[in-house]
Amino acid sequence: MASLHYKFAAMNSGKSTQLIQAHFNYCERGMTPYAMTPAIDDRFGFGVIAARVGLELRADTFAPHTDLFAVIQQKCLQQPLHVCIIDEAQFLTREQVYQLARVVDELEIPVIAYGLKSDFRGELFEGAYHLLCLADKVEELKSVCWCGSKAHMNARVSPAGEVVREGEQVEIGGNDRYVSLCRKHYLQGMAFPAQPMAVKVESV
Ligand SMILES: [Zn+2]
Repeated sequence: MASLHYKFAAMNSGKSTQLIQAHFNYCERGMTPYAMTPAIDDRFGFGVIAARVGLELRADTFAPHTDLFAVIQQKCLQQPLHVCIIDEAQFLTREQVYQLARVVDELEIPVIAYGLKSDFRGELFEGAYHLLCLADKVEELKSVCWCGSKAHMNARVSPAGEVVREGEQVEIGGNDRYVSLCRKHYLQGMAFPAQPMAVKVESV
């Protein structure tokens, strides 16, 4: 039976690397995965999923109004799909998460959604909220704070290095303005160590 999987993590945890690896694994076994990523603008078209380790994958894009059930059903008429892989699933709308559930239940195609759980304010994204409600399997991919603890908060960092906790949920900008932190350092507003961490050098 097909399942709806939700794999979430904080930023910079290697989600895209895992997504691209999963896609590769399906291809290697002669199966047909179908990858989708949110459109930067409002058009349906082609996009690229890029991982920081240097891997890239071409993918179709979706906008907030895209009917994912209709798109995937149409794609199936061209060739049978063995899995649908969704990038940046936090940007899915409530309707789109329900559409993906129908892909699993009615088309019997597994769906794996990768994304963030909470925003820089510490609140659930719409897509994360409904995936947590509807997914058959939920898995957390681990990320690490500068202190070594598990990082599950996403901090927005101002140019002055301060943790920002208010503002619009989505702001177009570079990855360098966000860091993943443990809860303690997120709440203390410490995006970085107060003093550079001492590096122990063994004498030879
Ligand atoms: Zn920490």
